[in-house]
Amino acid sequence: MANDDSDLLMISGLKHFQFCRRRWALVHIEQLWEENVLTLEGHYMHERVHDDSFTEARGAVLLSRGMPVRSQRLKITGVCDMVELYKDEDGVPIQGRSGRWRLYPVEYKLGQPDVQGADALQLCAQAMCLEEMFVTDIPEAALYYGKIKRRQRIMLTDELRQKVKDSVAEMHQLMIKGYTPKAKMGKACKNCSLEEICQPRLTKQVSASEYNRRAFHEEDGQ
Ligand code: SF4
Repeated sequence: MANDDSDLLMISGLKHFQFCRRRWALVHIEQLWEENVLTLEGHYMHERVHDDSFTEARGAVLLSRGMPVRSQRLKITGVCDMVELYKDEDGVPIQGRSGRWRLYPVEYKLGQPDVQGADALQLCAQAMCLEEMFVTDIPEAALYYGKIKRRQRIMLTDELRQKVKDSVAEMHQLMIKGYTPKAKMGKACKNCSLEEICQPRLTKQVSASEYNRRAFHEEDGQ
């Protein structure tokens, strides 16, 4: 079913997945979250989607904000913060515009460059969606970090693309099985907003939802 979106995974989940596979599963499989990740992502996406048809021209550059993207091949979906389109004979035609255009996605982040490479992974996944949608090649994209007010060029290498494919394949497998990886205490837990829900010290043997269900029944005296 080409238009069935029910099994598409959110590209934004790649960031959780890179941070901790269990964290991704808690949010996207078990749908356990505190005030929170998915809600914020939802609002974020909502705002952006409202912006999706807005295209402004700056000289020979078109700017498209909040462009929804998807890949049927990878079964992922998301929203590009910004896609810059440059006039280029080797580019692709764009509906409603004359000439041919080269696509250059840019993702905006409030903080500073992440050391784990999760932002680059997310950006690469967006670019791979654009390539499939527009039947084009996108060798490079950029991350803009608000904290340092600077752009970082990201080369979309075969290695980075393979990492996207492997991560997405693993996410789909976990989603199909409905399996949440067991907690592994590590440095990441200190900065994890889901620690209360995850209970990494206590939930090695049971799923978080099962742990929370038991806790709930204990409170109820059942
Ligand atoms: S508390 Fe630790 S194990 Fe649990 S989701 Fe967060 S990072 Fe992962």
